[in-house]
Amino acid sequence: MKQILSKAVGIDLGTTNSAVAVMDRTDTDIVLHEDRRATTTPSCLWKDPRSGELVVGRLAARRVGTTPAPIRSIKRLMGRPDTVRVTDEDMTPEQVSSLVLAEMKRQIQQDVAAWDSADTSWEVDRAIVTVPAYFDQPAIEATRHAAEMAGLEVLDLLHEPTAAACYHCWSHKTDNGTFLVYDLGGGTFDASVMRCTAGAFEVLGISGNNMLGGDNVDAEMARRLQEYLVEDDYAFDLDLAGDDEDKIRFAQLKFLAEGVKQGLSAQDLFMFRDSGTVRDKDGTPVIIDRMVERAEFEEVARPVVARTIGYCHEAMELAGKVAGISLSDVDQVILAGGSTHMPLVREMVTRELCGPDGARCAEPVYEKVDTIVALGAAIRASAVGGLRSHNPERTFRIFFRGTGATGTTKTRVAGRAEALTADADLDGGHIRLSTAGYDDEADLGPDGVFGFSRVPVQAGAESLLAFDLYDGEGTRVMSTVRTVTHDDDLGIDGGETSPPTLSKSFSLQVNRAGRPHVKELVPATTLLPTRAQFSFQHPGNTEQVLFPLYQHRRRVQVIEVQVPPSTPRGAEISFDVHIDAQYLITVRGAVGNTEFDAAVEKAPPRPEPTRAEIDQLVSRFTNAVMYLKAGDHAVAQAKWDMTMASLESAWRNNDRVQLEHDLEELEFVIDSLAVVEITLVPPKAEFDAIVTECREFNLRVRQAAVGTAITHDEQELAKSIDAQVDQGERAYRNRDQRAYGEAIEQLYGILRWLDGQYKKTPEGKDNRSEEERVADAADAVGHLARGEVMRLAESKGRADYVREITEIIRDLAECQRDAGRDTGRTQTRIAQHQRRLRQIRDVLVSGAHDVDSLPVDATS
Ligand code: ADP
Ligand code: MG
Repeated sequence: MKQILSKAVGIDLGTTNSAVAVMDRTDTDIVLHEDRRATTTPSCLWKDPRSGELVVGRLAARRVGTTPAPIRSIKRLMGRPDTVRVTDEDMTPEQVSSLVLAEMKRQIQQDVAAWDSADTSWEVDRAIVTVPAYFDQPAIEATRHAAEMAGLEVLDLLHEPTAAACYHCWSHKTDNGTFLVYDLGGGTFDASVMRCTAGAFEVLGISGNNMLGGDNVDAEMARRLQEYLVEDDYAFDLDLAGDDEDKIRFAQLKFLAEGVKQGLSAQDLFMFRDSGTVRDKDGTPVIIDRMVERAEFEEVARPVVARTIGYCHEAMELAGKVAGISLSDVDQVILAGGSTHMPLVREMVTRELCGPDGARCAEPVYEKVDTIVALGAAIRASAVGGLRSHNPERTFRIFFRGTGATGTTKTRVAGRAEALTADADLDGGHIRLSTAGYDDEADLGPDGVFGFSRVPVQAGAESLLAFDLYDGEGTRVMSTVRTVTHDDDLGIDGGETSPPTLSKSFSLQVNRAGRPHVKELVPATTLLPTRAQFSFQHPGNTEQVLFPLYQHRRRVQVIEVQVPPSTPRGAEISFDVHIDAQYLITVRGAVGNTEFDAAVEKAPPRPEPTRAEIDQLVSRFTNAVMYLKAGDHAVAQAKWDMTMASLESAWRNNDRVQLEHDLEELEFVIDSLAVVEITLVPPKAEFDAIVTECREFNLRVRQAAVGTAITHDEQELAKSIDAQVDQGERAYRNRDQRAYGEAIEQLYGILRWLDGQYKKTPEGKDNRSEEERVADAADAVGHLARGEVMRLAESKGRADYVREITEIIRDLAECQRDAGRDTGRTQTRIAQHQRRLRQIRDVLVSGAHDVDSLPVDATS
């Protein structure tokens, strides 16, 4: 009986290049697909206009700079509603990616076919596909879909940095450490802080930019080349926004620029020679013969590399918050991605992130940077995907868990047997395992699960385990083998699977006091699956409420709520948002006990960016940054400038995707400055204290009024107090500062009125000495200053008033001490302060006019 065996493979689906690898049959080494010494395949698709043939990889990449142009960097569009023109047909980013994945599958299939024998045949049907840690939910979903279209069962979508760290640990035989993975590819940059504890990986902090990579360096260098050509009198004044031929010319320059870049990674001087790749606008073939120095190239590349360092610090900052980790706790900085071949990258990373003030290593790890992600994915695939075996008729299947490598001479073998067709049945069945000197049977448990413990394996060698599967009637229905290798020197097996981590926070846009407000729903680095809850009050007059859902700065989904028609306005509608390990979002809502489903729809595309939009952002930034401390100002400004430079270059190149991305980055910079202060002032405890004071004073005034001519309707007043308490409590719950502040002002008003009433009663009448009266007045005015007026000034953010009030409070304390000495003059001082405080209070309450325009006190 010929068995069909399969091992899950690891695929790095890159923006520029993809790679595929699989662990060998015994899980001791990794087989990386290689074609003519190349270990990566360009993620490039081209359709031959004549034959209609779809070409993927190197042959497609050769078509760069020709028409019809090949499709490149499709990963940048994953999860977006765009389509691309592939010669004569429109394809979605998912379709293009699925063709690349199908090619990767085909490649590794060639390698595993080498393991075929007379009674086994190997196939590729399952994979772990990697995604940048910075991918958002629609992009992740699109990747999964693409893999499925390519005929691959996706076991997991692994974060690229996790894969890189996984390979590092495996190859260095360690299963503990804290790492900063620095992955600079063609189109994306990822910085991730990872911790590996006993082989289990945890993502502690992530940052990056999925529009930053070697491509940007190429574009900048291409511009430099363009300048050379103009200097050499070629017609190279390109119109990149309008002229399609110029766009092709620029693409050709970028292609040449990439060659210069790669040449300068290996040597300090590059003889740049080319004749005829490009023609100028007059049709003259361009002949280039020029020496380019690395220093000159680095001048062009430096701004791009410099941007990456900021993201590393951001990732560290997150790790600091999540796990209290700082750069000095990082054991290794692991480099990944083709762009880390640039010596400048290693130099800057060493200088900025390693050594005395940085990570514990003297320099970053620079090993297998082009394929480290695919290699790590293969290790993980082997651990998660185990070995799967089918009988030839594909009616039964056995899945073996874990890897086939072990560090002990007695091992555990576990798995699951499944019947795949309706007439096949394994109920009451068993499985038999035989190997040299060992023979045993195990019953199939529920779901076909089985396990053998203490199975002997040959020391330092490969052992063959033979399995026979029997059904409930004792008939043998399938036989298969699994090889297990004993390896004393075994490092970690990547077997611990850590749950996926959310790399970008989810937030929801809600209305608060009539203004849009972004509320964080699920913070970054949350483990998936996760749930989040939120509730809102039904705004009324509509049966459909829409909540834009943002991930990081991008509006990724819209939650559509069909509110049941009978719902009264103001009713509380609560939500349960569930994000599963595959980033699938489902939302259930409820009004009272009635539950309903809410649809989650893809967000509409962003309208074409305009110059006006950019200008508006610039002025928003200028306004926001003004209030920062000098240091923070400089940091924000630097971030802004870098993104702005990238945006301007995208604008010049008419690169819509890059442009949108940079706009989102800019918006994010602004939003991170204007930290939304949802903590209300004054604190709730103070609100409660005012309420208690009102209630107690109300009672006291009633008691003091008994038997006098003063009428005090205590119950009526209690109602007014209650009404304000209601409003204040509600406003506090809704984080509505305005309504909250109003309730407090009203309560203060009630207190003042009560005070007036009280003073009319005999008890409240003044029979203190003059000195006591002055001291009490100073105290009372001080109370006004410290309480109501100060709170108002603080809540309105009037730092100038806060300073002035502080000064008044200080002087009032002195007045209290001086009460016995210069009574008359002290009284005047107190009265002046009181007037001034009331002025301030009036201005702050009405907000209509400024103090300067109020009548000036004649005595001051
Ligand atoms: P991605 O992860 O985006 O698919 P890769 O990790 O394959 O990308 O990196 C591709 C980038 O690496 C390209 O921009 C390419 O120009 C750059 N690259 C590859 N080799 C070198 C080299 N020797 N020197 C500098 N850059 C290189
Ligand atoms: Mg990559």
